[in-house]
Amino acid sequence: MHALPFDTRQLLIGGQWRHAASGQTLPLMNPSDGTLLAEIGRGQAADIDAAVAAAQAALDGDWGRLTAAERGRLMLKMSALVMAQADELARLEALDVGKPVKQGRADALAMARYLEFYGGAADKVHGETIPFANGYTALTIREPHGVTGHIVPWNYPMQIIGRSVGAALAMGNACVLKPAEEACLTALAFGRIAQEAGFPAGAINIVTGLGEEAGAALSAHRGVSHLSFTGSVAVGQMIQTAAAQNTIPVTLELGGKSPQIVFADADLDAALPFLVNAGIQNCGQTCSAASRILVERAVFDAVVSRMADRYRALRVGPAMDDLDVGPVISARQREIVQGYLGVARDTGLKVAAQAVLPADLPAGGCYVAPTLLAPAAPDHRLAQEEIFGPVQVVIPFDGEAQALNIANGTSYGLVAGVWTRDGGRQLRMARKLQCGQVFINNYGAGGGIELPFGGVKHSGHGREKGFEALYGFSSLKTIAIKHD
Ligand code: NAD
Repeated sequence: MHALPFDTRQLLIGGQWRHAASGQTLPLMNPSDGTLLAEIGRGQAADIDAAVAAAQAALDGDWGRLTAAERGRLMLKMSALVMAQADELARLEALDVGKPVKQGRADALAMARYLEFYGGAADKVHGETIPFANGYTALTIREPHGVTGHIVPWNYPMQIIGRSVGAALAMGNACVLKPAEEACLTALAFGRIAQEAGFPAGAINIVTGLGEEAGAALSAHRGVSHLSFTGSVAVGQMIQTAAAQNTIPVTLELGGKSPQIVFADADLDAALPFLVNAGIQNCGQTCSAASRILVERAVFDAVVSRMADRYRALRVGPAMDDLDVGPVISARQREIVQGYLGVARDTGLKVAAQAVLPADLPAGGCYVAPTLLAPAAPDHRLAQEEIFGPVQVVIPFDGEAQALNIANGTSYGLVAGVWTRDGGRQLRMARKLQCGQVFINNYGAGGGIELPFGGVKHSGHGREKGFEALYGFSSLKTIAIKHD
């Protein structure tokens, strides 16, 4: 067993670390070797009740009394602490999620940057005065929603907590965080660092547990005024249904089948690293993974051949070895990905290249060989469904109109990339692509903390990241004063 720096079975409620009311725990596995990593508390409805009550008490007490500048200062202090502890956070994430240490470190620094960005923004969200009838002064103010619920997945815990809890805290909400049962360590570390930074009790509460227990209880709770959910489409729809029963706003960041579109005039040397990295980063378990590569026919063979070279060179191994690709999160996820590779085989979808798995990988680890499939038809199942593993399909196209049709031809709409030197085409494509973010001659913009992010269609609605999130995590009140 790896040494862990705190008791992972405890929940954070009202500033106290305590066991779940039921006393029950759940196992946390290390995906790199299949061993038991730790136990986490199995929080349930009673723990969610306590966490929501603690958050409300914080709003009515010390947390609610802080000025926006004071909230911001706490967040900046926390950002510095996260940065100082980035190596330890990266180790925890590597053990828990199976991501190579350098990616875990990048996630820790991203969380620090979210806290810095939103800490700096906390006292810069202003209302307006509105020209209105004679004898009136009319104005708007932004207020916190109250208690906000944050349900996050296992693939990027630190980044998603940073962007969602960070923006909510900046606006003065009190948060109840429900991490994914597969990966909780950095969420729990987040709570400890918040305490070290001096956040008042109850501003941040953390309840680990199963989605259908703790998650469902949080999303249905009448004391919660806003829900932020990142995860699968199926659960997102349940969350929206639960939110509708309490008539509260919900931000849904769901899955994707994001394309990168390569035109024949593109700078292929610049594009190539982005094409592959955006497919295999975090073993393909990224909502904005570029899982479809659309390539204009004139350069199709050249692009596939160069991507294939890169695939063959990928090094796969345990997260702590810090190679290019680690394991997927669980045996279940490995089976899902292998199921898709079986469909590819059965339907004659050609393997253009596959990374070689070393013979000495730990037997219990959840490894999948990164696989490039080409050419694929746009309506093939693997070109339509989110695989959430290190698998990319390459689809040929002829001309701009067909590229757009293919790119927009799935139920998702999260992110798209366009590689072309033609300025007019860059803008035409950007305007017509159905998604929340378009990257021209880059992809992902290095994480883009400042850039509003979210989807259309089944990829969800609402925006996180950037300044825009601060509007989502606050409620606008209009005040009209008659004075004449
Ligand atoms: P998931 O939907 O199974 O789980 C996400 C979270 O929801 C977990 O905390 C889980 O415990 C909780 N949950 C599960 N059932 C619940 C229920 N009935 N009620 C309330 N909460 C419940 O998703 P996952 O498998 O953890 O994550 C993978 C999915 O997340 C992929 O589809 C991926 O694209 C998506 N994702 C999207 C983004 C984004 O920003 N758009 C980011 C990361 C992941």
